[in-house]
Amino acid sequence: MSKVVFLSHPAHGHINPTLPVVAELIRRGEEVVYYATDLFRPKIEATGATFRSYGPQEIFERKLAYGGMLGGMAGLIEAAEEILPDLLMQVRDDQPDYLLLEAHSLTGNLVQQIINRPAMTLCSMFAFNEQLIPAPQLIRFLYGQAPHEAVFDGLLGLNHYIEVAQRISQRYGVLCPNMIGYLSNRQPLNIVFTSRYFQIGGDRAFDDSYKFVGPSVTPSPTAALSNSDFPWDALTGQPLIYISMGTMYNAEAEFYHTCFDAFGDGGYQVVLSIGQRIDEQALRQAPANFIVRRYVPQLEILQRAALFITHGGMNSANEGILYHVPMIVLPQQADHYVVAQRVGELGAGVVLDRSQATVERLQQLATQVINEPSYKAQCEKIAQGLRDAGGYRRAADEILAYKATIGL
Ligand code: UDP
Repeated sequence: MSKVVFLSHPAHGHINPTLPVVAELIRRGEEVVYYATDLFRPKIEATGATFRSYGPQEIFERKLAYGGMLGGMAGLIEAAEEILPDLLMQVRDDQPDYLLLEAHSLTGNLVQQIINRPAMTLCSMFAFNEQLIPAPQLIRFLYGQAPHEAVFDGLLGLNHYIEVAQRISQRYGVLCPNMIGYLSNRQPLNIVFTSRYFQIGGDRAFDDSYKFVGPSVTPSPTAALSNSDFPWDALTGQPLIYISMGTMYNAEAEFYHTCFDAFGDGGYQVVLSIGQRIDEQALRQAPANFIVRRYVPQLEILQRAALFITHGGMNSANEGILYHVPMIVLPQQADHYVVAQRVGELGAGVVLDRSQATVERLQQLATQVINEPSYKAQCEKIAQGLRDAGGYRRAADEILAYKATIGL
């Protein structure tokens, strides 16, 4: 048995796929201490792990929507600087044999360098590295078409990142990651929660240190928590449309109103997940055939759905495909565009630009995607590969096998 410290990134999309892996490692005898913010405590404790808090969620969200990815980096390095002194004391007290890092955990990257323990990475988005996309190309992709103000904000973010990175480097003697490192936390073992086939550049950019294990989902232990208050009895037999813009960028009253107008009383049952960030006063009364909740048991709902209208988060796309639910993808952030493009090119759904998301267009695409069998058939084909990849059990196998190779 080893003692493991998991340093996660506090967001549902980054935490959810790690939980079945943690539960499996604990079943196999590992002791896991899992760091995130208080918001995630119940989910994490349900796996059997010991929860420890980075502090309040707000620390990680100050600059969420400022300057694109460079702004995000600035926000996260600021958070890291703030929490590192206490966190380092706690992690040192934990005396881990090895670390598990979520790919997006900048804090985890820094802690690993400072305490110099062996580490492995779990990646909840598409994997990134220099072979997939060198930094200049990434910058062109992210900012090439962006309006001037966004580029300007991005530069301010970069400047702030450099200032904080210099302070951290001086104080702790570490190298703060560049843009690609920030997206990847690459370690000798990198678990990726999709299939090599679905991963962009999966056939060319990733050596054997990357293990594509497919979606890490299980009805337990998190389902019991999210399932409890959903009105299952209210579901009719009509084809079900599930709409979710994910858990991060979802304060989208205007879009939700367009959905009300497109699908209100139109022969569908609609489940709409609106997230925690929107002021409910900003929303009109929903049509009678809508069930609107802040957070729903997505996996269970997808198993009943005919269509998934999604923002293209990596987990949502994986989960839609896994349950053979074709998608209309409305990307909002950089990684969503990449996922949307992959869903579109593999025929598992269609991509819809946010500016084109009118009532008529949504109705027309919904009819098309629900009735044209090829979309579902493509989902089934990709899903087979996702299932064959092994999921959370294979992730645990790979972690324990790697651990053995380094003498732990
Ligand atoms: N999710 C959920 N219920 C909801 C909304 C989201 O269970 O009402 C889960 C979903 O199953 C997925 C995660 O939250 O595992 C969202 O991750 P994703 O990568 O799709 O998007 P993000 O929220 O990170 O933008």
